[in-house]
Order: sequence, then structure tokens, then C-alpha cells
Amino acid sequence: MTDRYDDQNIFARILRGEIPNKTVHEDDWALAFEDVAPKATVHILVIPKGPYVDYGHFAREASDDEILGFTRALGQVCEQAGLEGGYRVVANTGADGGQEVPHFHLHILGGEAIGPIRA
Ligand code: AMP
Repeated sequence: MTDRYDDQNIFARILRGEIPNKTVHEDDWALAFEDVAPKATVHILVIPKGPYVDYGHFAREASDDEILGFTRALGQVCEQAGLEGGYRVVANTGADGGQEVPHFHLHILGGEAIGPIRA
């Protein structure tokens, strides 16, 4: 899988402020915003601020500070969302994983029973 980053992808444009989003959290390492086409009652996307294509690219090339900051941000967003009943975190990766946007992101799905991981 290539790690070449397309800086015109939609999440890169969101990070640059070129496209509006419904932000729920932002810090030095991450931006979290509502998915425009929610697949659950609560559907939040969390993205690192750095230019990483997918989870593998991020895990391999991000600095320790970026990984720590992003991981803490994810935890904070999950707690702030008040998902008392639980939630699912998903990283779609590459074509087989159904990834559409080539900027690493985690989906947080909750607010209802999400069901089996694969129907
Ligand atoms: P993935 O298939 O894992 O790449 O997921 C990409 C997600 O981004 C999908 O759930 C889309 O609904 C969502 N999405 C695409 N464009 C936007 C946007 N402008 N604002 C918020 N979410 C978006």
C-alpha cells in the first residue's frame, strides 16, 4: 500500500479550513467532527493533524508525541460524547477495508446498539 499523501483530500481541506465541519474537539494533535452522513445516532470522526494516509502509515511514521496526542484526543472525545452504553471505534483501511478518504481517521459509532461487526 502506498503512503503517498494527497493534500487535496477532503479531510486535508477541512484541516485547512477550506470546508466547514461540525467540530466537537480540537487540539494540537487532532480534530474531531461529526460525520456528514452518520451511520449511527452518534458518528464522530477523529483525524490526526499530520499528513498520514492510514493507520499503518500513522503508526510507522508519526512521532511519539503525535501518537500520544491523537490517542488521548480519541479518549477525550469518547468520554465527552457520553456514550454510557459503549461504542465502536473503526479504522477503515485501503480498498478492502472500504476506506474512502485517504487521510487516516477513526470512526466513533454509538448512541445505540451498533450490532455485529459484520452482518
Ligand atoms: P471512510 O470510508 O472510512 O474513508 O470514511 C469516510 C467518512 O467521511 C464517511 O463516513 C463520510 O460520510 C465522511 N465524510 C466525507 N466527507 C465529509 C465531510 N465533508 N464532513 C464530514 N464527514 C465527511
